[in-house]
Amino acid sequence: ELHNNLVELRGNIRVHCRIRPLLPFDTESVEPAFQNRSISLSEKVIHAMDDETVLVRCNRPGHPLFNKTFQFERVYSPLESQTIVFGDVRPLITSLLDGYNVCIMTYGQTGSGKSYTMLGPHSESDAISPSEADHEMGIIPRAAGELFRLLSKNPTVNPRVEVSIVEVYNNELFDLLAKDSSGTIVGVKRDVITTKEGKSNVPLLTYELVESPAEFMKLINKSLQLRVRHPTLVHADSSRSHLVVTITLTMSVPFDSYVDQQSSQKLCKEILCTTPQKVMKGEKPSFPLRGSSPASAPLDLTEQQKQVQTKLQLVDLAGSECIGMSGVTGTVLRETSFINRSLAALADVLGALSEHRGHIPYRNSKLTHLLQDSIGGDAKLLVLLCVSPCQKYLAETLQSLGFGSRAR
Ligand code: ADP
Repeated sequence: ELHNNLVELRGNIRVHCRIRPLLPFDTESVEPAFQNRSISLSEKVIHAMDDETVLVRCNRPGHPLFNKTFQFERVYSPLESQTIVFGDVRPLITSLLDGYNVCIMTYGQTGSGKSYTMLGPHSESDAISPSEADHEMGIIPRAAGELFRLLSKNPTVNPRVEVSIVEVYNNELFDLLAKDSSGTIVGVKRDVITTKEGKSNVPLLTYELVESPAEFMKLINKSLQLRVRHPTLVHADSSRSHLVVTITLTMSVPFDSYVDQQSSQKLCKEILCTTPQKVMKGEKPSFPLRGSSPASAPLDLTEQQKQVQTKLQLVDLAGSECIGMSGVTGTVLRETSFINRSLAALADVLGALSEHRGHIPYRNSKLTHLLQDSIGGDAKLLVLLCVSPCQKYLAETLQSLGFGSRAR
């Protein structure tokens, strides 16, 4: 009866927009032919009008007038630091311990600051001194730090943290933590399926147990070296694939916890008590074994406890620039069309959720299928739109702002 009385919770989607500062390459790559035009292509046309409004304004004579605003839950000006951005992410890490699945993704064209926001400075040209390193850290290392900090304050939940890292390239999944027989990490192709419980699962995916933020970052750094990169005309270090880092948290909690705050849907999703005795009697464990699901073995539970598993998916999406702009052919054209299709599938999923449609088309692409458990239902999603401030990228920026507006 309790379940019937609970109102079904709708997807919880927030969209933030971050405008990056003007950077040297914004001016460097302006072709000489454009330099005498009445408006410089590096001129700033995207502004944070206030905490929630992006203003797009071009009002130079001789140019199309453009004056438009976009509202989001939060808009970061170019001056706002990684620390400020993480301040808004931090409560989502707490939600993970409260029993929610969480997804945080960065969306935007190549060079708009997605990887900087997610990871921090990363390319060689971004080399910074160690004293700046902490200050410049992105969401992924900070999220790991916050998670372990919270867990150290709640040791009774007997937490287990496991990580998988997947790259989605040309609508195929690659396990970036899979090792060959010599122990070297190699990218291995995997598939994503839906389990009978309706969860998304990647059979044989590698999950690594991690016990500290440092261990976690070591895995991230190793796997990033494998990530497919292809230079385009836009930006030398462009990312042509989606990176999905999944942190799975398994906890043992008192049997009656979460009932008050969560929906019936949530209770169904929870993995109920699996005592070690039950497994030893030869019954099928309710957790598939390592490699097919993160929770490889049940935790040691008493009869008064149940096991709860939540996941945090951190997604650095591939560049959202359109084919025409990149001026590409061959392999890169193929990559771009896969990127466009997967981002369109993501937009369709978010659109279906915001219209409260019954059928959510998660399975139209590997990306959305992989993210199914942390987008929609009562999961919490934060989309961080990353945009560049200058005229040169106006078309791509408007596309990103449009994507974000439709997702809300
Ligand atoms: P993307 O991942 O979208 O391709 P990057 O994160 O690589 O873009 O950003 C492009 C460049 O801009 C990098 O050199 C990055 O360090 C820099 N950058 C992006 N956002 C910021 C910011 N908010 N502050 C300082 N530098 C930034």
